[in-house]
Amino acid sequence: MTIRYLLRLAQIDPLEACILMAHALKCSRVQLVIRENDALSVEQINDIKALLNRRMQGEPIAYLTGEREFYGLSFKVTPDVLIPRPETELLVELAMEKLPQAGRVADLGTGSGAVAVALAHTRRDAQVIATDISDEALTVAHHNADHHEVKIQFIRSNWFEMLDGLFDLLVSNPPYIAASDVHLLQGDLRFEPCSALTDHANGMTALSTIIEGAPAHLKSGGWLLLEHGYDQATAVRDQFTSASWRDVHSWKDLAGIERISGGRWGAIMSEK
Ligand code: GLN
Repeated sequence: MTIRYLLRLAQIDPLEACILMAHALKCSRVQLVIRENDALSVEQINDIKALLNRRMQGEPIAYLTGEREFYGLSFKVTPDVLIPRPETELLVELAMEKLPQAGRVADLGTGSGAVAVALAHTRRDAQVIATDISDEALTVAHHNADHHEVKIQFIRSNWFEMLDGLFDLLVSNPPYIAASDVHLLQGDLRFEPCSALTDHANGMTALSTIIEGAPAHLKSGGWLLLEHGYDQATAVRDQFTSASWRDVHSWKDLAGIERISGGRWGAIMSEK
């Protein structure tokens, strides 16, 4: 049996089939083409068939290959962490913009560590702290930090509980999908950790907890930036403004959806 034959047999998107085959054969996709008529071993055939079958059952490609690219960096992912999404790159962009030179930043609920590692990788001057309540997620995040040779202090914590000191910036991509949202029963989300996706309520619990807790951990003029759902920008902004945050704003992702909201806490030093 050859690569070419298996590819014809696969009942999934041909590009996805190629990604999975290259992963099983530990080669590049270009090499797949070069080797397409070579006979495969029984073991190789079984490995490929197993991956194709799992994909047919709906398992996300990132969990099958164990990696996903985010902010130009490759991240290890396991079913213990959310798969990094392209829209979350906006959170990193904004964080870079708001973080002062040699600033202190915390990523709350870091999961795979994608946001914290991307920040630490680009901003070598920053002091980066990342928290998660899940030991399994912290293991994955540690691996990603080591792999990209960045220094991050990881803390096992339920949001702010174990967090010490004041920060220039707090960022988070918390679970914000409402328990009743049908998307939880569709596509990749079915295989991702529930605790990273939903608050098991109306989707606002974690966002509210962070907005309420953040002032005690921010320096004067420090920023809080939160990723949220496609329909939550108004509700999130309202929470910021009713708690007297300043410069409250929402930013649109590449799809034109208000995806990140944030504000500044307290007096701003440089202003009169
Ligand atoms: N952005 C993800 C999705 O809608 C959810 C991420 C999250 O809950 N933080 O698929």
